[in-house]
Amino acid sequence: MSSKDAPPPLPEPLGVPVADSHTHLDMQSGTVEEALAKAAAVGVETVVQVGCDIKGSRWAAETAAAYDPVWAAVALHPNEAPRIVLGDPAGWSRQGAREAGGDTALDDALAEIDRLAALPEVKAVGETGLDYFRTGPEGMVAQERSFRAHIEIAKRHGKALVIHDRDAHDDVLRILAEEGAPERTVFHCYSGDADMARICAEAGYFMSFAGNVTFKNAQPLRDALAVAPLDLVLVETDAPFLTPAPYRGRPNAPYLVPITVRAMAAVRGIDEEAMSTAIAVNTARAFDY
Ligand SMILES: [Zn+2]
Ligand SMILES: [Zn+2]
Repeated sequence: MSSKDAPPPLPEPLGVPVADSHTHLDMQSGTVEEALAKAAAVGVETVVQVGCDIKGSRWAAETAAAYDPVWAAVALHPNEAPRIVLGDPAGWSRQGAREAGGDTALDDALAEIDRLAALPEVKAVGETGLDYFRTGPEGMVAQERSFRAHIEIAKRHGKALVIHDRDAHDDVLRILAEEGAPERTVFHCYSGDADMARICAEAGYFMSFAGNVTFKNAQPLRDALAVAPLDLVLVETDAPFLTPAPYRGRPNAPYLVPITVRAMAAVRGIDEEAMSTAIAVNTARAFDY
């Protein structure tokens, strides 16, 4: 393994433990036990494991049931819903689409998400929302139908809603307003600017910041973090993606959260303990654990 592929070293532990509000352990190397042990060693004592399809959502719920520090979020990712409807060259989705017809296949998949959302270890419905970066115009109808259905499921079960919003800020905000957002809504990997942060603040939406807030070109994100109310700010890895600087490009994992927390504290001009304490309290409130 060359050093640029190697896992970054453990950062200094946080004085006040926090949660990684959004991770994908099933896409990371190593076992769940190893990931949780490394995270706990640096003060990341809780993780929200996020499912992106049926298989991943079932795994998230099972993993949350098996490990105390893990909570689950279940959903069809905004890029997964169109695959189910339109068919996909690989796997479950295409089989489902072939056998049932695309829209019926999506209904069946949503029914399974609905069933999983009722489980006590499942604290959120998501990641759902809109992704105009990876999904083309042919997939947008399915994506929007799936998003609206997930909002309804979250509200009916009293669970948090985890939003994935990529290049779709206006439509995500509009659809949330049209449907009526759940009481607890989290913009994961928050990607809006300061103006959007003010809109989210007004609506009471949580904003979860990922490692990209440390990137040199991410000043608009830091501007958003600077104006977000402190009681609506969360931290996440979205691991294995978005490894914070100076380790950008190397594999991300929950144990790297302290790097992002420290960068966030610097943006806010507060000390690390104050940042960690706010994040810990906010995450527990957002996911109701
Ligand atoms: Zn996402
Ligand atoms: Zn994610």
